[in-house]
Amino acid sequence: MRLTFLGTSAGTPSRIRNVSALALQFDQQSAFWLFDCGEGTQQQMMRSPLRLSQLQYVFISHLHGDHFFGLPGMLASRSLQYSAETPVTVFGPPGLQRFMQTTFEVSGSQLGYPLTIQEVKPGLVYEDERFVVTCLPLIHRIASFGYAVVEKDQPGHFDVETAQQMGIQAGPLYGRLKRGETITLPDGRTVNGAELVGPPVTGRKVVYCCDTIFCKNSIQLARQADVLVHEATYAGEDLELAVRGGHSTATQAAEVARQAGAKALVMTHFSSRYEAQGVDGPGMERLQNEARQTFANSYIAHDFRAFDIPRHES
Ligand SMILES: [Zn+2]
Ligand SMILES: [Zn+2]
Repeated sequence: MRLTFLGTSAGTPSRIRNVSALALQFDQQSAFWLFDCGEGTQQQMMRSPLRLSQLQYVFISHLHGDHFFGLPGMLASRSLQYSAETPVTVFGPPGLQRFMQTTFEVSGSQLGYPLTIQEVKPGLVYEDERFVVTCLPLIHRIASFGYAVVEKDQPGHFDVETAQQMGIQAGPLYGRLKRGETITLPDGRTVNGAELVGPPVTGRKVVYCCDTIFCKNSIQLARQADVLVHEATYAGEDLELAVRGGHSTATQAAEVARQAGAKALVMTHFSSRYEAQGVDGPGMERLQNEARQTFANSYIAHDFRAFDIPRHES
């Protein structure tokens, strides 16, 4: 799994950062998911290895413009420019359906692929054979949701070589052995499937909390996450500004990661006041160091920075 930041600025784009968008890609799978879609996200995507035609799901945190004004344009381009035909589903807070319907209606936009807009409620958002996505309300100036993506545990590796050496033919018997069943072969031998299957592979967890003040639901979502992506609009010394805007400081983001027992924290959604000396300048370094005093494994995101989330060692 790989996270790629396409926008990391709070409120408005800056000279060196675009507004919020974060892509999640999977191993052995070309489709990717998007968390938030600020204005200009489609252009950011063109500058990255991501292909808009491969977009599958979009999760919108809240209906502030810097998190979703890029959505109608991006979805229209996906049809016009890339002639994509595979469906896209957009999940987001109540109001999103009305916004999208009105925008497409008044602009006469037609899409060449099925688009579903699904408004979310706290709890289960999406589930397939590999992933479960849940959301919880955060605390911001308007309704805002945090999302947790949990990869399900995968069955262990089936030792085909040993099975073949034992003279077991490929076919339905393999399926039963993979499930750990004990089978009797035509020649009378019994084989315990559990002995041919390795330990299950523990799934990974990625959590996205943006925008929010420090809150309990972020901690609940982020429990044991491999990577917590949390907004850190301000430095600790600007706590008052953070509270007023419904945002978090770097220290608070780190406190969420610490209390949740997360493995890593990646901060995003920065006020441009800290970037005067560049994307990795002293202002941003200060935010990172501040977070590291509370939670050592803290990182600063910038546009196009990618973070790989390796499989757990079994
Ligand atoms: Zn924002
Ligand atoms: Zn906001």
